[in-house]
Amino acid sequence: MQTLLDLLFPPRCIFCGEASDASRICGVCRSELPWCGALEIKNGVLVTAPLYYEGLARNGVLRYKKQNVFQNDRALAALIAVCVRNHYLNKTVVPDLISYVGQNAVQRYRHGFNQSRNLALSLGKMLDIPVKPLLTKTLSLAKQSRSNAEQRRANASGAYSLKRGADVAGKCILLVDDVITTGSTVGACAEALKRAGADTVIAAGLAITKLRRTF
Ligand SMILES: [Zn+2]
Repeated sequence: MQTLLDLLFPPRCIFCGEASDASRICGVCRSELPWCGALEIKNGVLVTAPLYYEGLARNGVLRYKKQNVFQNDRALAALIAVCVRNHYLNKTVVPDLISYVGQNAVQRYRHGFNQSRNLALSLGKMLDIPVKPLLTKTLSLAKQSRSNAEQRRANASGAYSLKRGADVAGKCILLVDDVITTGSTVGACAEALKRAGADTVIAAGLAITKLRRTF
């Protein structure tokens, strides 16, 4: 099936749009992407991601977010899976559940799909870990991209609540978000999950922003 689809729609590089192999990352981008792969702590949560959110990776992620192509979800989730294996599974931090950053009704309506959900679903299949929607966004984080880190944290705290019937008590949850910037979003999600009794909350993204020194 995959081969047939690839014949009908030859794979294109997610980052530059040029022809590529089934990995959907062309050779040029593969060598020029700002690879990360590190484990960092952002806003009190362990986070890992294959890419830094800058340059070619930033453009690619923005392109990816405008489309809804499941082959791209799978190709990018494969990159996240490497980080999850290296930093969590190989160190016996094995999540019971994978979840993703929720959207509120307005965002769902406007955008039509949730990339973090798509990435989480692909990742869950690859790692054989169940994926569940656990969180909803309760407040609007309007103009978040324009506010500074401090305001973002204030805006985000308490902005997520648990979906009715979600059972997280005593569980280790892996949160997936497409882009992790200050960590305010994953921090707020982790807070909500821990309030509901989750034991451990860890996170993985597609891209994270580099730590900036503040003096
Ligand atoms: Zn490319």
